[in-house]
Amino acid sequence: MESEREFDYETARPLVQKIMEQSGQNLLACYQCRRCASGCPVGEETGYVTPDRLIRMIVLGQRDDVLNNQLVWRCVSCYTCGTRCPNDIQTARITETVKKMSKENHITPITPKVDHFHSSFVKAGVRWGRVNEIEFINSYEIKNAITDLRHLRFKEIFKEMATQGGLGLRMLRKKRLHFGFQRTKGRDEIKRLYKKAGDRSVVPKAH
Ligand code: SF4
Ligand code: SF4
Repeated sequence: MESEREFDYETARPLVQKIMEQSGQNLLACYQCRRCASGCPVGEETGYVTPDRLIRMIVLGQRDDVLNNQLVWRCVSCYTCGTRCPNDIQTARITETVKKMSKENHITPITPKVDHFHSSFVKAGVRWGRVNEIEFINSYEIKNAITDLRHLRFKEIFKEMATQGGLGLRMLRKKRLHFGFQRTKGRDEIKRLYKKAGDRSVVPKAH
């Protein structure tokens, strides 16, 4: 994180403009009352970055911190902050926008597992119209294993394999694991929606 918290006009202007345009939220209406921060369910896991502080960081042009922080990756898009905001600012749309910008800039996420979960889940869902558990979990675990291998975290790989293996067995017993690939109607429409939203990274190639 940056040690100095100074206003950088040259960085701030385009950053504010881009995030406001893409999220559709008027960041300049925020007067830092912090009503949004009090109800955030992931507040205890996001360190000092609360919705109001994220907006402040954007307005101050702290680009590096804005593009990679715990709130952006851990926000669960519950919209609690938005319903409490007197200015109708929806931080969930801001965190989604920033996440997308972070991916476009090839920034390694501060919590890679959240990124792996998100991209594997959405990709599996977009491909078949509904998520296939086997495809999703394989893709998720392969991405996690590659990250752990890069950092020589062998223990983590075995721990994760044991955890997911146990979970898979429990799901199998409860008949919650589907081996076949069920296609649903309207898959092309889902793909078109994601393409339109500009998230080509999760749109699988036609097959
Ligand atoms: S509730 Fe709205 S105006 Fe108040 S700090 Fe949060 S985003 Fe800003
Ligand atoms: S939408 Fe995100 S930032 Fe807002 S309260 Fe929910 S988790 Fe927190």
